[in-house]
Amino acid sequence: MNIILLGPPGAGKGTQASRLVDNRGMVQLSTGDMLRAAVKAQTPIGLKAKAVMEAGELVSDEIVSGIIGEALDGMAAETGVIFDGYPRTQAQAHSLDTILADRGRTLDHVIELDVDEDALVERITGRFTCASCGEGYHDMFKTTKVADTCDKCGGHEFKRRPDDNEETVRTRMAEYRAKTAPILPIYEARNIVSRVDGMADMDEVTVAISTILDGADA
Ligand code: ADP
Ligand code: ADP
Ligand code: ZN
Repeated sequence: MNIILLGPPGAGKGTQASRLVDNRGMVQLSTGDMLRAAVKAQTPIGLKAKAVMEAGELVSDEIVSGIIGEALDGMAAETGVIFDGYPRTQAQAHSLDTILADRGRTLDHVIELDVDEDALVERITGRFTCASCGEGYHDMFKTTKVADTCDKCGGHEFKRRPDDNEETVRTRMAEYRAKTAPILPIYEARNIVSRVDGMADMDEVTVAISTILDGADA
């Protein structure tokens, strides 16, 4: 099973993808995570992407489609993949079709997380992650159970993204509206889009996605 999680910054894509990894043994391919790793390692891709990401603009289609293709090459065909934050433009959507077809994969579901734009700034500015295992948290909506200790790995170090500030979020939201939302009709025409209320509780969103993947909504 191959699925896309689609939604603006802060919609909950990463949160839900990580639960699908834990619950279903799927693999999460987050172009944002892969680009951040490239920036950290100062690879040629990272050096190109750094300023673009800090501004909240989109990295080039060639770069992101290239890293997605490479990531899939190392993977068994039976492994289910969650595309998190990709595709984000029409060109990427078309590349993904080719990338999947070349590897004998099909796209089963596009899950759109429907959220209030007003809530996104609050979600993004309160977001932090465990520096060791990457588990996601929020200052108000998902705090650690024990202060300064990761629920998942016990780590004590946390980090915040440099682009998770209000000004950059506005740019990222505008990019989503202008370039990413318009790819939905491509998938609507194939009848593979399901809309989920992303404003619901995290656990409720997880259940809604599960229901879709199990086909119980048909
Ligand atoms: P995305 O990957 O779409 O940018 P995240 O999954 O990182 O979004 O979520 C953004 C922030 O909002 C995180 O701090 C996360 O803990 C929190 N969050 C995610 N889903 C919900 C939800 N349903 N309700 C409240 N907060 C949420
Ligand atoms: P969010 O979790 O807020 O949706 P991501 O982690 O997915 O953000 O992306 C962070 C940044 O990385 C984006 O603002 C953009 O600069 C870059 N990026 C990630 N994925 C893509 C993509 N598919 N196409 C172009 N740029 C991307
Ligand atoms: Zn951790």
